[in-house]
Amino acid sequence: MSKSNQEIQDEFDNLSAFRPDWECSCSNCDAIPTVGELGLCGPCTWGEADTMNGAWWDDKDEARYEELRLLVEAMK
Ligand SMILES: [Zn+2]
Repeated sequence: MSKSNQEIQDEFDNLSAFRPDWECSCSNCDAIPTVGELGLCGPCTWGEADTMNGAWWDDKDEARYEELRLLVEAMK
């Protein structure tokens, strides 16, 4: 069974919320990137130093994000 448009939209929104934002610095410590929606860097979000420099996001996440983005675009 394929996913409904709503499920695709939800997954895209969830993933987008975590996409690193390299334009915006952390509102707490000025580090980049920040976690999309939160405006905080990885360590300030999770309290884990190994989430620095966008380490919470990998190539697989980016590929999935791009795939979903195209599906969402196609729904419009
Ligand atoms: Zn920070």
